[in-house]
Amino acid sequence: MRFYKCRIGFIWSLLLAVLVAVIPNYWESKIDSIPLLAPPPIEIPKTRFVEDKIQKNRTLVATLVDYDVPIAIAYHVADLIHPVFDLRKMRFGNPFRLEKETDGTLKGFEYKIDEESVLRVQKGSESYEAKVEKLDLDSREKIITAEIHTSLWEALSDLPRREYLATELAEIFQWQVDFSTEIQPGDQIRLIVDEFLHDGAFVKYGKIQAADLVNAGRHYRGFRFKDSYYDQKGISLKRAILASPLKFTPRISSGFTSRRMHPILGRERAHLATDYAVPAGSPVVAVANGTVTFAGWDGGYGNLVRIKHASGLTSGYAHLSRIASDIRAGRTIKQGELIGLVGQTGLATGPHLHFMMAKNGTPVNPVPTLKKGEPAPPLDGALKAEFVKEIALVQEKLDTGSQALTAARQ
Ligand SMILES: [Zn+2]
Repeated sequence: MRFYKCRIGFIWSLLLAVLVAVIPNYWESKIDSIPLLAPPPIEIPKTRFVEDKIQKNRTLVATLVDYDVPIAIAYHVADLIHPVFDLRKMRFGNPFRLEKETDGTLKGFEYKIDEESVLRVQKGSESYEAKVEKLDLDSREKIITAEIHTSLWEALSDLPRREYLATELAEIFQWQVDFSTEIQPGDQIRLIVDEFLHDGAFVKYGKIQAADLVNAGRHYRGFRFKDSYYDQKGISLKRAILASPLKFTPRISSGFTSRRMHPILGRERAHLATDYAVPAGSPVVAVANGTVTFAGWDGGYGNLVRIKHASGLTSGYAHLSRIASDIRAGRTIKQGELIGLVGQTGLATGPHLHFMMAKNGTPVNPVPTLKKGEPAPPLDGALKAEFVKEIALVQEKLDTGSQALTAARQ
């Protein structure tokens, strides 16, 4: 037995010696024959990440403690953040990321403040460091084309931030088209807007550079120039009177329907007003600059606001559920300013805005009156030349989009 063991030991030693002698040579020749693309050494992860969202009513300290960060460190981190970011502005639902070393020590903390900035806390050699970093955004031009089948809301459903696009569009054409009630199936929109991305992911849109709207067969076009919008002739889209006393609210989807002149009460035989059947709570705005002459309760009108404008024109807004707190008689008011919310106070069978206009005391039909605001004189001289030059390329792109849409429909 002993002899055997000894012999086996000798054989093993011999085999080992051969291997030690041969293997390096073998690998040497092998390495010579293959390109030097050795795989990277496998690293044992030294850190681990946790990704989550800020919970409701949880402070930063509480959040860190939830993830086993010692309370003293959590307070220390909060103190470091204090000069660079107001932690009271931390919003629940926003994502954060914790980085920990294998022994559980906090290595880093990242919180997404908004789509463009991030709060970073990083462990340095001696202590932690906190800073707010702006994300690098890439921009590219995007041409958006859509046709309305049921509503503008639905037509933009494939796009991120459609409420932004819808609201901006409504604002560009707020003097021409009442987006709360007049957008209808068959209408078309095209717009040119810069899109901002971070790491290839959508972040936000810039201002709409140019927009094209076909509403009820009428063509409207707007070009952004020096922070305002003009048509292709250089006439400002801005008018003295808005197209609607209702502020466009894309979140109220039923506000997109094209219902109007709703005959709400049989008793209103001579209905010297326009009824806008829109959901209760829709914001109501002043159609033009003026002075409030009445704000309060007036019998069948319920909560009523009356405004005196230039050129003997007045406007009245009835059945409001609420009058805005700062609206009172004698106060001047700006076009587009909120005066109250749609309701059904007074004699009303359902929520609607009973909107009246009068010229020198005589009631006039509000709808054509709203469309009659006089435009400012068109751009001229050097400004006009600059405008023409600036919109040339954009106009071409809108036209191309226009052809593309027409082609797609054929
Ligand atoms: Zn009415």
